[in-house]
Amino acid sequence: MDYPKTRAEAKTSGATHYFTGVPCVRGHVALRKTKGSCVECMKEDWAIDNEKRKGKPKSEAAKAAGRRYYEKNREAVIARAAGRPHEEVCGYKQKYKVANPELYKALNSVRKRRHKDATPPWVTPEQKLQMRQMYLEAQRLTKLTGERYVVDHVVPLINDVVCGLHVPWNLRVMTQEENLKKSNKLLDTAEVT
Ligand SMILES: [Zn+2]
Repeated sequence: MDYPKTRAEAKTSGATHYFTGVPCVRGHVALRKTKGSCVECMKEDWAIDNEKRKGKPKSEAAKAAGRRYYEKNREAVIARAAGRPHEEVCGYKQKYKVANPELYKALNSVRKRRHKDATPPWVTPEQKLQMRQMYLEAQRLTKLTGERYVVDHVVPLINDVVCGLHVPWNLRVMTQEENLKKSNKLLDTAEVT
């Protein structure tokens, strides 16, 4: 393919890339972007950025971009997540647990704390047992069917609009797929964290 030889030429012809044949400051003889720089330099910079981002919490901008992606590609994202075999998901989790033991513990205790905070003091031991059984039921169904079952809070524990309780009548066992579809709907009306 023939590329314009200068940026000026590329601009006038509307081409996205041009090729000078001259090495860039880092010594690449490569295409250059009309609105950018040497493509090899850009790749190097992305790789460095990606490496830096690893293990760091996501920025608000990145989270917003993720949400926008999700809004646009909702069906595909859900299908991908639901289509993942249970063993594979457990594999990720196990790897994650081994790679980030401290973070894993922290996240787990956050979840436990969240449940505890949402459990009213008047919940009886029988009701607590009832809830425990729902978690066991979800585990049993997951093993039995190979599809992932989870315990869902009908009214989410954390939501900008309402806060649900960790009580038996706010819990239900459902497939992960149904659960993802649900948070889907809630995202339409409120921001769920
Ligand atoms: Zn370069």
